[in-house]
Amino acid sequence: MPLPSIKLHGAKQCTAKSKRTGLSCNNLAAYGCKTCRMHGARKAESIKRGEQHPNYVHGRRTLEAQAEQSAVSRKLQQLEDAMHLLGMTTAKRSRGRKANGYCKITSVDEIKKVIG
Ligand SMILES: [Zn+2]
Repeated sequence: MPLPSIKLHGAKQCTAKSKRTGLSCNNLAAYGCKTCRMHGARKAESIKRGEQHPNYVHGRRTLEAQAEQSAVSRKLQQLEDAMHLLGMTTAKRSRGRKANGYCKITSVDEIKKVIG
């Protein structure tokens, strides 16, 4: 339960939620952060990304690399759709989760948009 003065003066409160109860934390948020000290308060500018991150090893799992891989995967899945639509193959459809941003190709016009 937060102090009454916190709510009264509009101070930022922690946005973390309990996994167990689903209730919000209600602690006072750390200065310039969304969460309190107990829930990993970090300023956005202090978060290290890419090669600056201490756990960086080879760069294959960075956000940029994952986005690029997802885009290539999406294009391949859409090319498979195009091949089936045009009757170029009778192979089985690939199974599993589709890439982010994937939308099934159902017409020749959509093929032109994706490939063109
Ligand atoms: Zn908190």
